[in-house]
Amino acid sequence: MSTVTADFLIVGGGIAGAMLGHRLTREGASVVILEMEDRPGYHSTGRSAAALIESYGPPGVRALTAASVDFYENPPDGFTETPLMRPRGMLLCATAADTDALDDAVAELPTLERIDEAQALRLHNGLRPGVFEGGFAYEASVRDIDVEAIHQGALRSFRRQGGAIHVNAEVTSAVRESGIWRLETKAGGFEAPVIIDAAGAWGDVLAQRCGVTPIGLQPKRRSVGVVQVQGGQAPVDPHWPMALSASETWFFKPDGTNLWCSPADATPVDPHDAWPDDMDIAMGIEGMCDATGYEIEKLVGSWAGLRTFTPDGELRIGFDTEVDGFFWLVGQGGYGFQTAPGATEKAASLLLV
Ligand SMILES: Cc1cc2nc3c(=O)[nH]c(=O)nc-3n(C[C@H](O)[C@H](O)[C@H](O)COP(=O)(O)OP(=O)(O)OC[C@H]3O[C@@H](n4cnc5c(N)ncnc54)[C@H](O)[C@@H]3O)c2cc1C
Repeated sequence: MSTVTADFLIVGGGIAGAMLGHRLTREGASVVILEMEDRPGYHSTGRSAAALIESYGPPGVRALTAASVDFYENPPDGFTETPLMRPRGMLLCATAADTDALDDAVAELPTLERIDEAQALRLHNGLRPGVFEGGFAYEASVRDIDVEAIHQGALRSFRRQGGAIHVNAEVTSAVRESGIWRLETKAGGFEAPVIIDAAGAWGDVLAQRCGVTPIGLQPKRRSVGVVQVQGGQAPVDPHWPMALSASETWFFKPDGTNLWCSPADATPVDPHDAWPDDMDIAMGIEGMCDATGYEIEKLVGSWAGLRTFTPDGELRIGFDTEVDGFFWLVGQGGYGFQTAPGATEKAASLLLV
């Protein structure tokens, strides 16, 4: 097999790799994305809750999210045929035990507005009156994001701009000689002066294969169950805001007349093809039922995925400080979509000098 050469090799075809590939090829760079699965987006990118929450995460994450909104509101020509965001809103709900958590959130986050129960029930008439004695806060700017359209839009633009994507191409080893990385994959050899680690949960595994010291990435599993419900205060309204417990122990939001329910689990695991645990799904559904009084008619589906964090919870974007030509784009946690355009701009500013 002949060796493919490029300016940049991006390892990982999820949202991080796809958006950066799109951005670099827009500037005329030659870029190859290497993806170990038979399709890009199989792991975390295909398993998100599809929300953009400006108040979510540590300060650096919030700054990257704020820097991403304009791209999603005004994507470049040819990126998408459909809007990438829709209004959703988010209602933070506090039981008596969650009062401090709600107070802290409102004090820290200017985008959260404290509201009373009557206002909360007008926004979400599925909630049971009297349950949330600790009160409510509302974040109007929370949006649903069309994650499929964003990922596919990035990949389509990337290809149109001359980028190449190789699937079934797990990077198994890498060496750097005379300023060039030589990567071995199951789909042949690849060479470039710069390798970009966008390998999600496998970011540290890839680093080790490249002789780079790992940074301590920790994948954490999160699960979502999809249910049809009956009873309760009112039929499911597809326009309800996302409801989230103030202590982040559950959230749910409508998808048409189904509800996505999660226990907001964050179980530390090794990188793997994540699968939902029945108990986690049950706990997510229980949180929703306690909040609404619904009974479950049918479990329509479920999934789990990995949210991968750096030790300080912020994304790591930049060249490794010890090994030349190795660039980190990892630690997207639970924010990989909502930060992608901002993270991409930061990465591009460091790579395109
Ligand atoms: C349940 C859940 C809900 C979430 N909700 C939201 C949300 O509402 N909003 C939001 O912004 N984010 C959310 N996230 C987080 C978001 O999905 C992730 O941050 C994002 O998808 C990470 O993208 P990525 O490209 O870094 O990783 P991935 O999508 O995992 O892509 C990494 C890719 O690298 C490939 N790879 C790994 N090792 C190699 C190798 N050696 N060679 C070749 N390829 C390799 C993998 O196959 C994979 O496809 C959620 C995540 C989960 C699980």
